[in-house]
Amino acid sequence: MPQAYSELDPSPRLLLGPGPSSAHPRVLRAMSTPLLGYLDPEFLKMLDETQDLLRYVFQTSNELTLPVSGTGMAGMETVLSNLLEPGERALVCAAGFFGDRLEEVALRHGAEVTKIEKPWGEVFTPEEIDAALRTAQRSAKVVALVHAETSTGALQPMEGIAEAAHRHGALLVMDTVTSLGGAPVKLDKWGVDAAYSGTQKCLGCPPGLAPVSLSERAREMIRNRKRKPDAWYFDLELLAKYWGKERVYHHTVSATLVYALREGLRLVADEGLEARWARHRANAEYLWEGLQELDLTPFVPPAHRLPTLTTVRVPEGVDEASVRTRLREDYGIEIGAGLGPLKGQVWRVGLMGYSSRKENVTLLLGALKEILK
Ligand SMILES: *Cc1c(COP(=O)(O)O)cnc(C)c1O
Repeated sequence: MPQAYSELDPSPRLLLGPGPSSAHPRVLRAMSTPLLGYLDPEFLKMLDETQDLLRYVFQTSNELTLPVSGTGMAGMETVLSNLLEPGERALVCAAGFFGDRLEEVALRHGAEVTKIEKPWGEVFTPEEIDAALRTAQRSAKVVALVHAETSTGALQPMEGIAEAAHRHGALLVMDTVTSLGGAPVKLDKWGVDAAYSGTQKCLGCPPGLAPVSLSERAREMIRNRKRKPDAWYFDLELLAKYWGKERVYHHTVSATLVYALREGLRLVADEGLEARWARHRANAEYLWEGLQELDLTPFVPPAHRLPTLTTVRVPEGVDEASVRTRLREDYGIEIGAGLGPLKGQVWRVGLMGYSSRKENVTLLLGALKEILK
């Protein structure tokens, strides 16, 4: 017999790190409702509704818009493994941890990757992407970049980026894991060919699904592949046969996670995207003002600072890890540590989805003031 473990009773935490964010109570309630089978007509209707709502948050009319089972990384893996065949070329723009991951995942799927790099915290211009594509010996099939770089707190401006990629016949892939539902994402207007996200950041849901959306052009490229994608589980043409009209079994999609996402997306629609973006920005600005009063400085200049995640420089002589421990133990607040070259240099404060509320900012600022005193 194993020992008798206690009943599950996690401490309430205010999640103000780089993700997960705190899930909305309505999302948590939706998750405790009864399970349905994956072909139950009631469930199929929910799938359609979820896809319709996803098109709204992605600002797209892409038919191929669905949540893949798995976290944000499953979205990255799905998009890259469907669009790239072994030996094909990808241009990856990297100025942070997730830019580097794009390279790693593309390489694993056999692509030949050219990476343009900038110091962490910076962003790319269309001219830099254009120049990299122009000087390449072989044309790239895909240009991939991160819209909201969670490791640095930088927001990539999207104007002119898709044009630069398209001028050279490449598709544009965008990581929207930390922007979707928190900062403007406009796939159709910006000309993005493929995007992926996760549910546990600005959508205010638990982790476990990765919304993806692909343009007709991208889909045509997938149809014209010489061989099938190497990951059966992430094969978009197979997934589309379940999420589309045919309803062919592929794998058992988690009803609980679909309920959560549908409710999270309904909350986005109730609030309205514009209002939601404005809320995220207002709370971020409130945080930035408060940080200034505490003599704390964001790592990224205001011009391309993310509204959903702020990297804060750790002041000289302060032990960053013990501050995070005290926030958790004394105040029940979670914030994140720096990654890679920013390890020990910054804290990462996320104001995403349901966590993006003024009272949370007030609490965090008050706690930081006490701890740093
Ligand atoms: C969190 C994150 C991911 C990975 O998502 P997981 O849900 O952890 O798999 C990818 N890209 C960015 C920009 C992220 O912030």
